Amino acid sequence: MRVCIHRGTKQIGGSCIELAHEGVRILLDVGLPLDGEFGDTSLLPPVTQGIAAVIVSHPHVDHYGLLHHLPPGTPVCIGAAARRIIQAAAPFTGQPLPPLDGFDLQHRTPLQIGPFRVTPYLVDHSAYDAYGLLVEAGDKRLFYSGDFRGHGRKGRLFEGFLQHPPSNIDVLLMEGTTLSRLEEDDAFPSEAALEKQLLEQIRATSGLVMVYASAQNIDRVVTLYRACKQAGRTLVIDLYTAAILEATGNDSIPQSFWPGVVLFTPERQRRQIVRLQAFDLLKRHARQRVYREGLQQLAANAVLLFRPLHMEDLVAADVLDGARFIYSQWSGYLADEASQKWLHWLQEAGIEMHQIHTSGHASPSDLQRFARALNPARLVPIHSFSPEKYPQQFDNVEFRQDGEWWDV
Ligand SMILES: [Zn+2]
Repeated sequence: MRVCIHRGTKQIGGSCIELAHEGVRILLDVGLPLDGEFGDTSLLPPVTQGIAAVIVSHPHVDHYGLLHHLPPGTPVCIGAAARRIIQAAAPFTGQPLPPLDGFDLQHRTPLQIGPFRVTPYLVDHSAYDAYGLLVEAGDKRLFYSGDFRGHGRKGRLFEGFLQHPPSNIDVLLMEGTTLSRLEEDDAFPSEAALEKQLLEQIRATSGLVMVYASAQNIDRVVTLYRACKQAGRTLVIDLYTAAILEATGNDSIPQSFWPGVVLFTPERQRRQIVRLQAFDLLKRHARQRVYREGLQQLAANAVLLFRPLHMEDLVAADVLDGARFIYSQWSGYLADEASQKWLHWLQEAGIEMHQIHTSGHASPSDLQRFARALNPARLVPIHSFSPEKYPQQFDNVEFRQDGEWWDV
C-alpha cells in the first residue's frame, strides 16, 4: 500500500490522504483548508480521475469541503447521519452541496473497495457521526485517526477503543490539533462539566440567556438541553438547528417537538425559507413555534441557541434587559472578520460575554493514551500546526511531506 498525504502534514484543515494499491486509489477526506475558498480547484489533489471511492471521516468542511469538485460519479463513503447533516445544512449555510452517493460507514463494519478493506470506528468528536478508519491492503494495516477526543459525550467509546484497539498497526496517521494550543499536561473540561457551568450561569440570569454554539455540535446542543431542563427553562431553536437535529435520525437527541423546546424563526431566516421554498421543513418543525411576542413573554424562562441572524429580532422583541450571552465555540473564531459584527452588537447592548467551551479534540494526554494503545510501528503526524512536538510525546514518529508518496 502506498500513501500520499496531499495536505495535512503540517497544518490543521484541508486534510486529504490518497492510498494506492494494485492500481486502485482511494481518498481519505477531501478537506477545505481553513483559509481556503470552496471554489478553488487548485486545492485538489493532482489526479482526481479514477478514484475508486472517497471516504469522509466526519462532516466538518476541513474534511469534506472540496468533495463537490471530484469527477461526477465518484462514490463517497460517509456515515448515514453525517450525510444527512451535510444535506440539511447546505441550504442554510450556502455552502456547496457535494454529491454524497456511496456506501454508509458503520461502526466496526468493514467495507471492501477493490483491494482495500476499510473498517470504520465511531469516535467521540464535536462533529456527529465521526469515524477513525482502519485500512488494510496487501499485508499492511494503516489507521487514520480522523478527528477525535475522549472528553465528550461519547467518552466511553474512547475508553472502550483504548481497551480493545486494532492490533498490528504498521502506520498510524494521528491528528494533533491540541499540540499547538496546550501544554502536555493540560486537560479539557468534559461536556458534563460544561453542563454544570451552564446551569450556574442560567440560574444567575434574570432575563434571556443566549448561547452561541454550533448547531452541528450535537454534544453541545444536548448539554444545553440538559441544562435548560434542570433550570426549568425552554430551549429556543431556529429552523436550521431543528433541521440538523432531525438529520441525526437519533431518537435520544433533542428535537423541535420535544417538551421544553420551541421553534423561533428570525426574520432573516423567514426570508431564507421563502427563497428555499422550505415550507415542508418549516411545517414539520412548527408544532411548537413562537413568534416575537411569544419570545418576549418567554424570555426570562428561555435559553436561545443564538446565531448572528437573531440580532435584529432580539432588539425588536425587546428581550435584552437582564440578558446574558455565553459564547460556546472555539475562542479563535472571535478574531475573525465575521465575528466583529455580533461582538459590536453585544457591546452596544451593554451585554458582557461569558465563555463556556471545551475542545472537539483530544488533549495531549489522551493523544498519548491513544498512540500507546495502537502501538504503531510508525506514527505520522497529521492535522497539527505543531508536528515538531510529536517526538517528545509519542514513540516511533516519522515525518512525511505533503505530496510525497511513500510505502506503508
Ligand atoms: Zn473535525
